[in-house]
Amino acid sequence: TVSSLSEAIAGHAREVGDRPALIQGETVVTYAMLDVLLNRAAAALRRDGLSAGDRAALLGEPSVEYAIAFLAAVRAGMTPVPLAPGVTDETLKAMLNDAGPRLVFSDASQSARLDRTDGAPAVVALNGSDGGQPWQDWLAEEGTTLAIEPLDPAAAFNIIYSSGTTGVPKGIIHSHRMREGQMAALSGLFSPEAVTLLTTPLYSNTTLVTMLPTLRAGGTVVIMRKFDTRAFLEAAQTHAVTHTMLVPVQYQRLMAEPTFDAADLSAFQMKFCTSAPFSAELKSEVLRRWPGGLLEIFGMTEGGGICFLPAHLFPEKLHTVGMPAPGSDIRIINEDGVEQPAGETGEIVSHSEQMMIGYNNRPEATAAGRWTAPDGRAFIRTGDLGRFDAEGFLQIVGRKKDMIISGGFNIYPIDLEIQIDAHPEVVEAAVVGVPDAKWGETPMAFVVRRPGATVEAEALRLWANERLSSLQRVSAIVFVDELPRNGLGKVLKTALAEMAAA
Ligand code: ATP
Ligand code: MG
Repeated sequence: TVSSLSEAIAGHAREVGDRPALIQGETVVTYAMLDVLLNRAAAALRRDGLSAGDRAALLGEPSVEYAIAFLAAVRAGMTPVPLAPGVTDETLKAMLNDAGPRLVFSDASQSARLDRTDGAPAVVALNGSDGGQPWQDWLAEEGTTLAIEPLDPAAAFNIIYSSGTTGVPKGIIHSHRMREGQMAALSGLFSPEAVTLLTTPLYSNTTLVTMLPTLRAGGTVVIMRKFDTRAFLEAAQTHAVTHTMLVPVQYQRLMAEPTFDAADLSAFQMKFCTSAPFSAELKSEVLRRWPGGLLEIFGMTEGGGICFLPAHLFPEKLHTVGMPAPGSDIRIINEDGVEQPAGETGEIVSHSEQMMIGYNNRPEATAAGRWTAPDGRAFIRTGDLGRFDAEGFLQIVGRKKDMIISGGFNIYPIDLEIQIDAHPEVVEAAVVGVPDAKWGETPMAFVVRRPGATVEAEALRLWANERLSSLQRVSAIVFVDELPRNGLGKVLKTALAEMAAA
């Protein structure tokens, strides 16, 4: 068995019960209150006939009620399955069919999307009373307690769906052991005084990776339902925030926020970043203008956080994602599955305690996503290309499926993006391969210009190409107002490729 997150929260309730555990706007839930609510929600799940291993889905924007419902399912030995509300009805249906939840916690605003016919899972309405049993009425009566039972470390803690940019999302099953390993890897960074501001969706591992260790440590989680730069700075000052997790595009927006430098952010101890490429230039600007450390995490939902870069300690390594995290073993392999030495580019594979159990209902996909080391250990194939430098720092070159093969030469979009981004009138660029009769594929760049910029597409193309090798040249530039992104701020290259083909 594992010393569980649920036990830690119950312990904080006994010892430091009046400390805030969750805050959202005016709502403050202390550890004592959280423990009571978790007991009542866990008992309600049992009352409704759910038993250990049953699944409870969640659908909605980040909120205190959402976080409590998630943690209650874990406490009761059930498996929370948080779902992205931004997906199409068809994808939502596919995920629900695949997960087979017995109950769905749904924001009142989302519940019209759910099947309410006989035999469909029960719906509990969060944040409102429409379309389901209201949360307050659903909770078991006051005074209810539920003993926290020992958990099987190999059992499912949660299921998180991949973003599914290339098909139906796959359900990624994490074990209790994985979550405990992840919390342990970051535990040194969170004290009971930690105040962690979260703005990213709760259906994402990106958010859980900092939310869970904060609660484990007895710190405070501040939930922002919707990110905007002003509200972020205000919340950071009001709550004397010490930690946050943001994705690169949020750092970019904060650095562009005119009131940023006037904000008092002196309480900050550590900022986290993960989920997408984070340019060296942006990291360095964040380090310069924002007090406290900056920890970049490279990882994936399937394999956990596998590489850490404490950027404040390695200003000369900002173009990398750092070194393997405690307990993670990272190798680079070529197309034939042969391990490569430092300096060579290949697919990144990783082995650690944080690896998923597998994909839900998809044993072939689970097997296809593994690489077996010569010693027999299973590694997760990340689908990302990278190389180690001589000192053991990992540099990401991009996703395998985004690589452009032009005239037999491999082009990594990031090399081109860095050059175009360097133009003074450019905010950001994304490069995709488009079919080409002569070369097979050729790079096309989608570029967002700064307000008031006057540079023309052809002039920018020539400017960038002067800085690129003759084999990497951009063949066309298209200006756009913004890049298409998913709910986690990742650039949707498939959407750009479709735009290019249209
Ligand atoms: P899907 O698998 O459904 O296509 P996804 O891969 O974007 O979606 P996640 O598991 O959330 O889903 O993201 C993991 C990916 O995000 C990694 O494989 C990598 O491409 C990218 N990534 C994560 N962290 C970093 C980082 N620090 N720097 C660059 N890229 C990163
Ligand atoms: Mg992936």
